[in-house]
Amino acid sequence: MITFDDIVKVYPGGGTAVDHLSLELPTGKITVLVGPSGCGKTTSLRMINRMVSPTSGRVLIDGRNVAEQDEAVLRRGIGYVIQHAGLFPHRTVLDNVATVPMLLGRSRREARAAAMELLERVGLSTEFAGRYPAQLSGGQQQRVGVARALAADPPIMLMDEPFSAVDPVVREGLHREFLRLQQDLGKTIAMVTHDIDEAIKLGDLVAVFREGGHLAQFGTPRELLEQPVDEFVAEFVGRDRGIRSLSFDTAAELEVRPPADAALDGVELVLDASGRPVGWRRAAEPEPLLATGGSFTGADSLRLVTDLAISSPVGIAVRVGPDGKADGIVRHHDLVDYLAARRDHRPAKPTP
Ligand code: ADP
Ligand code: MG
Repeated sequence: MITFDDIVKVYPGGGTAVDHLSLELPTGKITVLVGPSGCGKTTSLRMINRMVSPTSGRVLIDGRNVAEQDEAVLRRGIGYVIQHAGLFPHRTVLDNVATVPMLLGRSRREARAAAMELLERVGLSTEFAGRYPAQLSGGQQQRVGVARALAADPPIMLMDEPFSAVDPVVREGLHREFLRLQQDLGKTIAMVTHDIDEAIKLGDLVAVFREGGHLAQFGTPRELLEQPVDEFVAEFVGRDRGIRSLSFDTAAELEVRPPADAALDGVELVLDASGRPVGWRRAAEPEPLLATGGSFTGADSLRLVTDLAISSPVGIAVRVGPDGKADGIVRHHDLVDYLAARRDHRPAKPTP
């Protein structure tokens, strides 16, 4: 666990970069520091590996003050990834990754073998090993940066805007790989970004910073979306946060009606011989059938169900079982009632 204990940072000649920050980053989880530019995220991150020292307060790793630890030993246990990867331009990809293990005393052969394995781990085939950083795309360089930070197998990883310099499509891919990698590795990760969507997607916990180095809110992505503590956080997480928060719950507990209840809306769900949905038949105008536009299972998210109900030509979402057979329907009025009840039963978040 990484603890920020009442940290203040005032740069000489500058304003307050971090203002009485107290925060706990749990071991083995991804904690994202997010907020507008200049609000003290990088400053806070760099206090963990002592690249910045606090004006007052303490940073502790597993209860030990980093200020009292040997700097070299401390940094050996902390990987660091930055925007644009920060690779050595005159070394090959393989040497970039192998450098750290060699510094730690592993033989050249061992280090290179380990580097090769890491490159594959981050999704780069071995054909890249002999290239120089300038011969790679931004996304590939970023992967090398991650591989290099992992090379010493540090329990802690600091990542400062690691995915910000790559285009959105590549970023999507890097996000997926990063989450998959973290599932295997279970590092303690502190990541900085200015992108709230990235924070919500990647963070187990998210700390939202506000101008002046204030911590505005610290919580799970779900808490931020459902219970922002103030207007700033609500505005920052974005307008469609209600819809987005529906992706955190499955439809497992959503009550469905028997398909025959579609008659209440003047329609009938037409099934094929094996019971799979084919389309909607309106009592008033039997032909042509209207498309169901897809179906959901209990494992799908409430967001999908809502989308199906809204986009359905008859305002009804169809549930299917594992065999694909229609086993229930959700009328949009019923869904709205359910979502309202779900909101009302949510425990209120105490204001800090
Ligand atoms: P963020 O990463 O959230 O964009 P930073 O931590 O980089 O913010 O910066 C926080 C504040 O501290 C900003 O106002 C910035 O200008 C200031 N700052 C950052 N580094 C220094 C420095 N080395 N010297 C003086 N002021 C700095
Ligand atoms: Mg920064």
